[in-house]
Amino acid sequence: MLTGKTALVTGSTSGIGLATARMLAKNGANIMLNGFGDGAAIEKLRAGLESEFRIKARYSGADMSKPDEIAGMIKAAEQEFGAVDILVNNAGIQHVAPIDKFPPEKWDAIIAINLSSSFHTIRTALPAMKKKKWGRIVNIASAHGLVASAEKVAYVAAKHGLVGLTKVVAIEAANDGVTCNAICPGWVLTPLVQKQIDDRAKASGKSVRDEEIALLAEKQPMHKFTTPEHIGNLVVFLASDAAESITGSAYSIDGGWVAQ
Ligand code: NAD
Repeated sequence: MLTGKTALVTGSTSGIGLATARMLAKNGANIMLNGFGDGAAIEKLRAGLESEFRIKARYSGADMSKPDEIAGMIKAAEQEFGAVDILVNNAGIQHVAPIDKFPPEKWDAIIAINLSSSFHTIRTALPAMKKKKWGRIVNIASAHGLVASAEKVAYVAAKHGLVGLTKVVAIEAANDGVTCNAICPGWVLTPLVQKQIDDRAKASGKSVRDEEIALLAEKQPMHKFTTPEHIGNLVVFLASDAAESITGSAYSIDGGWVAQ
């Protein structure tokens, strides 16, 4: 379905980004991976995508908090593959603390990585998409792009901002063959969430399993995790021709979290 297209997924060395890159590759897209991690492990991932799905995969170690590295990554992908057809803005971090104890440097990092990086990838990649009259931009926001929780001031602000940014890009590119949508996941069991569960267990003295159940039950009517592959499948759908008139939307995939 996506043969001949190129997808760049930020933060694709782990979790949702990695599963999304795999789903896009499975559907025939060439892949530009990005994210942090052990060099040898990342090279194994990259080579594994090529051999498993018979596509071309490359890797950029660009830091999503650094605008010049972000622009460089997009340019490198365009040079290597001729285009970035599908851009998935997924890199993200979390920090949990009340606002009066929230370290300013954590605020700056979360705003940079979870919000501003999408501004920089899109402003750099959009001109070539418009020229080709084809492009798909998918921003991985969060249920926290639609509703708030205590102790996540930077994350909630960044994700609400990302949903707003998505709408503006959708309007501006509406007649250029380029769509821009957000996905708003609820709980997905990845390292980002595992850390929150482990911290809760440490603080409460309860078991990790008990805190896993409590975390789900506090927010989601459905007491189970969305999988990274569920998110990847939704990205593939939004990249397909069937979704060509879907733009400016924020798709909840959250076990009913924001339905309440
Ligand atoms: P994760 O920690 O498993 O993966 C995060 C990825 O981002 C990794 O590849 C990491 O290397 C990369 N990254 C972090 N900082 C970076 C930087 N400065 N530059 C480049 N790459 C960087 O997390 P995840 O749960 O897969 O999260 C992916 C996205 O999904 C995030 O934007 C997150 O906010 C969002 N999300 C996650 C959940 C959830 O429950 N896990 C729910 C809603 C939204």
